[in-house]
Amino acid sequence: MIVDYHTHNRLCRHAQGDLEEYIQAAIRLGLDEIGCTDHSPLPGNYDARHRMTVEEFYTDYAPAVSELTEKYAKKIRIRRAIEIDHLEWATDWNQRFIAENDFDFVLGSVHFIGPLGQEKPLFGPEYGPDELESLYEGYYLAIADSAKSGMFDIISHCDIVKKFGSFASKRVDELTREAMTQIKKADICIEINTSGLRKPEKETYPGERILAIVRELQIPLTIGSDAHTPEDVGRDFDTIVDLVEAYGRGKISLFDKRQRTEMKISKLRQNGAG
Ligand SMILES: [Zn+2]
Ligand SMILES: [Zn+2]
Repeated sequence: MIVDYHTHNRLCRHAQGDLEEYIQAAIRLGLDEIGCTDHSPLPGNYDARHRMTVEEFYTDYAPAVSELTEKYAKKIRIRRAIEIDHLEWATDWNQRFIAENDFDFVLGSVHFIGPLGQEKPLFGPEYGPDELESLYEGYYLAIADSAKSGMFDIISHCDIVKKFGSFASKRVDELTREAMTQIKKADICIEINTSGLRKPEKETYPGERILAIVRELQIPLTIGSDAHTPEDVGRDFDTIVDLVEAYGRGKISLFDKRQRTEMKISKLRQNGAG
């Protein structure tokens, strides 16, 4: 059993390739499941440069997922999913959007820190060393809030703030642990995301420092490549298998209509895929 629970496609305007090419890549790798988790639209088409519009979701993405699920049913299970930005001001809208759609799972991500109008995006700009303390604190507070929101099944790339440089303080350690505690309390998963291995930090999201807390709290895991090109589907999953063995009791979680089951990842090796 090998799955990739985090993939994008051209609809988000910063990924290459059609949804179908990602599915074909997953089939070529022998994956059992692929989660289609493109970036969700937001109210008022906020951040339109990095995501599909509401209209595109209903006329393009959702029908394409259904059609391809049927077309490739004999070759792979396709999970209808979405990556949603946790934004305090968009909570009601996001809740309605999730309720309106029969997703198999919902990824929750923090890509913006701070209130509307003063938000700091985590992609695009760079931040200087003097901004790291407030960035880290705001980030882990937002991760804790996203877990408490009750909207998400999986918290994505939960230490991505490290891409701006490392920063450590007692306060950040406390906020990190509190965020992980809230994830555990909400009984949801953390994703091991391999995209960090393809970035200068050369480490999964989260890295082993947080994975040690994940192990201690026994937070369930999912796995994903965060592919923005079809070639990145299933990328670096050898590393993931080792991390799941070391920090996740060798198990990953799978979702069907938002119901979670756990599966031994060692079956993945027996299948010879990876
Ligand atoms: Zn993301
Ligand atoms: Zn993503």
